[in-house]
Amino acid sequence: MKSEFIAENQSDIDSLILSFFSLIKFINPNLGKDQFLIGTNDWLVSKTKNVRKKLICVCTDGKIKNTENIFAITKDEALYFAKKITLAEKLNVKGISEIDNYKEDTKLVDFISNLKIFFNDKKISYIPEGYNGLLLLSHDIDYIQTNMMYRLGRIYYLLIYLRLGKFKMFFQNFIHFSKQVFIEKDWKHVKMLEIEKEFNITSTWFFFSRITENKKLFNPNYELKNNMVVDLMQKIKNNNSEIALHASPESAFNSIILNKEKANLASYSNEVISGNRHHMGRFNPKISFDIWIENEFEYDASFLANDKFMDITSTKHFFKIFNTSGNKSLIEFPTQWMDVQYLNFSAYDEKKFKSETFKVIDNAYNNNQVLSMNWHGVPYKWYTDVYREVIDYCIQKGFLICGYRDYLENIKD
Ligand SMILES: [Zn+2]
Repeated sequence: MKSEFIAENQSDIDSLILSFFSLIKFINPNLGKDQFLIGTNDWLVSKTKNVRKKLICVCTDGKIKNTENIFAITKDEALYFAKKITLAEKLNVKGISEIDNYKEDTKLVDFISNLKIFFNDKKISYIPEGYNGLLLLSHDIDYIQTNMMYRLGRIYYLLIYLRLGKFKMFFQNFIHFSKQVFIEKDWKHVKMLEIEKEFNITSTWFFFSRITENKKLFNPNYELKNNMVVDLMQKIKNNNSEIALHASPESAFNSIILNKEKANLASYSNEVISGNRHHMGRFNPKISFDIWIENEFEYDASFLANDKFMDITSTKHFFKIFNTSGNKSLIEFPTQWMDVQYLNFSAYDEKKFKSETFKVIDNAYNNNQVLSMNWHGVPYKWYTDVYREVIDYCIQKGFLICGYRDYLENIKD
């Protein structure tokens, strides 16, 4: 990892600088090792003389001049951006959204847009050849044929609106809340799988893996051995789709629990588990990153970044997270869009939900972006029809639709 760029002093390279470089590399995957440099001004000037290639220079003292082919920033700036991207300074992440008081950093937004202007690459190669966009499709299986936990969960979120003084959102959600108490209770996972099979697409399904240590009130209460779960897993495998871990919030703070959850899911599914996403988006960057990497996940998708309010990377990109020693990493795929009204409060209304969802897709299409969507199989009468329309629309727009595992094959270096 450390050899992926040229450094005057190896000691300048830590896990944050590595994450920073990984983001740039995901924004422009064609960059070679020799196009990232970190060092003192004098050293950088000597290294960049007569070089025609585009260079990213991180200056450890002051800042060299930007030119047509040099994009220079200070090490402090690089660290600042890396901390923002990876949430490194947060002690405890409880979801990442406006409702949790998350605010997008305008400096980071400006930095990314300047970087894109600097690269001036119209063709974005992280979208596979021949496609106009990419839909990373995933599902959290939180509830199976039960609405009780979901209702409890909604009370929790409803109260957060009040606590934050977001009264308008409280009332908008209250309508939704009252409706879902009375609506039908069977969740739409099987129907969604049938639709995916019909369109011949894959997706990723995050399962909760219940063990003795994670039987908490707000965790899903199904067991992997339940018949309904066994059937669902078989259908997912028949679709060539992926089974991944919807890890408990507590496992983000305890490597042994995470290890047990992963092993439990691997044994019931008989699949290699390479993806993780924490239930309710709870984790602690200071310890969870090491725990994820220790447990040999290839990627994580716990960062939530609902499109309407914010965008965690300010790029709609993914980046690498490194362990403390900087010698191992995994890829973080922030989830941009969720169907549940916690982040998407118009989800109770078919019309509004549809128009907002299609806007998000059009935006991804117009900007050749990767769009990551997380669905929950919410038991509304109109839900699967809308789901089918979304998939159909994305295919017509020339999106590649697949799960994380399948996409990873495309971006391995
Ligand atoms: Zn969940």
